[in-house]
Amino acid sequence: MSHFGNCIFCKIAAGAIPSSKVYEDDELFAFHDIKPWAPVHFLIIPRTHIPSMAQVEPGHAALLGRMMVLAPKLAMEQGCNPYPAGGFRILVNTGAEGGQDVHHLHIHVMGGARPWLKG
Ligand code: AMP
Ligand code: ZN
Repeated sequence: MSHFGNCIFCKIAAGAIPSSKVYEDDELFAFHDIKPWAPVHFLIIPRTHIPSMAQVEPGHAALLGRMMVLAPKLAMEQGCNPYPAGGFRILVNTGAEGGQDVHHLHIHVMGGARPWLKG
């Protein structure tokens, strides 16, 4: 087992598993979802391994704030249409009952012309 444990998103952020990169900096990484629901569908993750929103602490406030500030900028760069006729959806599935499959915190950003496959 590598030092990333079994976490696929830790490996993607480190470049150990290939992805279609949208953005990266020292704290954050963004990449296209492999099974998009919408014409634009990418994920923003912190490089640090936080399993889900259920583990978020006050010390993560700035990191989460940066993710939320980055989302609209990347949404427009990736082809979402302008607000208010366009827009985008931000989704954070948390835990089994919240529909979370990958247990490394990620925000889904989805947009583009309707209809979408889901949601
Ligand atoms: P969630 O249900 O919120 O945990 O969503 C996990 C998302 O990660 C799903 O939309 C998957 O399609 C996506 N996903 C899983 N593996 C990969 C991968 N290797 N590259 C890109 N997206 C992935
Ligand atoms: Zn991880």
